[in-house]
Amino acid sequence: MNQHDPRVRDEPVRSPDSEVVDYGCPLCGEPLQSPDSMVAQFDTCPMCGSIFTVPKPTANWALLTAIVLTLVVVAALAATAFIILRRGQ
Ligand SMILES: [Zn+2]
Repeated sequence: MNQHDPRVRDEPVRSPDSEVVDYGCPLCGEPLQSPDSMVAQFDTCPMCGSIFTVPKPTANWALLTAIVLTLVVVAALAATAFIILRRGQ
């Protein structure tokens, strides 16, 4: 068992070049694309020339939706508890 395992070779890690962020210009709504490395950095819209920061990828929207849904559920539960408590008096 002295054979060299080819998987152990120290190969360079290829970074995914196709990672892009799809979003719309915050001013004119023009659909834009920026590489992942541009997230949270300044970019300029080629249509209207406005300067903005590139938003984080769509995974952030899932988190935002989860937070909003949690807040809505908590608010609904609080309102229900409030109504029940007032009726009990
Ligand atoms: Zn624009």
